[in-house]
Amino acid sequence: MEAEFGEEIELERSGGLVVAETEDEWGALKDAAKDLRSFGANVELLSGKELASVEPALTPNLIGALFSPHDGQVNPLALNFALAQAAKENGVEVRLFWKVCTLERNKRKGCYCLKGEKGEIEAEMVVVAAGVDTPLLLKPFGLDIPIIPRRGQILVTETAPRILSRPLISASYLGAKFAAPEDEGKMDFGLSIEQTKAGNFLIGSTREFVGLDKRPSWQAMKLLACRAEKVLPYLRELSVIRAFAGLRPYTPDGLPVLGEVPGASGLYVASGHEGDGVMLAPITGKLMAELVLQGKASFDLTPFRVNRFQGK
Ligand SMILES: Cc1cc2nc3c(=O)[nH]c(=O)nc-3n(C[C@H](O)[C@H](O)[C@H](O)COP(=O)(O)OP(=O)(O)OC[C@H]3O[C@@H](n4cnc5c(N)ncnc54)[C@H](O)[C@@H]3O)c2cc1C
Repeated sequence: MEAEFGEEIELERSGGLVVAETEDEWGALKDAAKDLRSFGANVELLSGKELASVEPALTPNLIGALFSPHDGQVNPLALNFALAQAAKENGVEVRLFWKVCTLERNKRKGCYCLKGEKGEIEAEMVVVAAGVDTPLLLKPFGLDIPIIPRRGQILVTETAPRILSRPLISASYLGAKFAAPEDEGKMDFGLSIEQTKAGNFLIGSTREFVGLDKRPSWQAMKLLACRAEKVLPYLRELSVIRAFAGLRPYTPDGLPVLGEVPGASGLYVASGHEGDGVMLAPITGKLMAELVLQGKASFDLTPFRVNRFQGK
């Protein structure tokens, strides 16, 4: 994509680490490595000593890590701008700050009508990719899609010389990711640390079901900072310059929602990617384009079907 866009998107294919802080986590990582290998992923288990030799700035207290050479990082903001720019150059009209208030079907005209504060748009085909607002737009079509906002908070530090070569998450991150939304307001938490090309550290992240509240909280900021400095002690030297929160589009089965709305020809959904929507954006775009243009995607989309939650 970087070559196609001709814009810097800060793509680094450095591989990624999942670190174990306890013996239990180390056991879980060994199981995860087995699972991943059975799917053909070329992952490695690193002992504490091996980990220290590839990432010497990490605390020596870590027991080991799972290393995946396929992982990497990208600047999602730069990626978004580059993608929009490339789309414009290929004839796409981008309308910013154009909120769709209602989406209706006009059977007589054989099209969909998108009504917004700034006017109306008619279209034969519509792909709803509105993140946590997706269910609201699809309600008039009798669809009840449980895409639930799941807040995530991140701290950003001042820039520093490069001391972390690849992004890392803690093994507890995986546990937090797959926790169910039983307790409203409960904060699940798994550590992630990465250093951007500019040198800032991004320290994340929480997983919280707090409705549409996008504000960072002091409680989470403190927790993130305390956890991160235990794994990467160098962070004690740095100031935090910013904190922010976003809403991940969570689904109860952990899978995105991709496909055509049954009974509404030409109306599609591409949403619900929870914490992986940047990583899964290229494959989602490719499969949705195939579905919309050719009527069939080159990968079986049955597990992601739009009406799989109906009546559950
Ligand atoms: C703290 C945090 C860390 C994350 N880390 C990662 C990571 O490391 N890797 C990764 O892959 N993903 C990560 N994610 C997840 C990723 O950000 C999401 O999965 C992704 O943004 C979802 O993309 P989306 O386009 O489906 O939804 P969104 O990004 O929410 O975009 C939806 C868009 O639709 C617009 N919209 C909504 N309603 C309307 C309407 N009525 N009319 C017009 N426009 C509308 C919104 O304004 C928005 O621009 C993280 C998320 C958080 C919060």
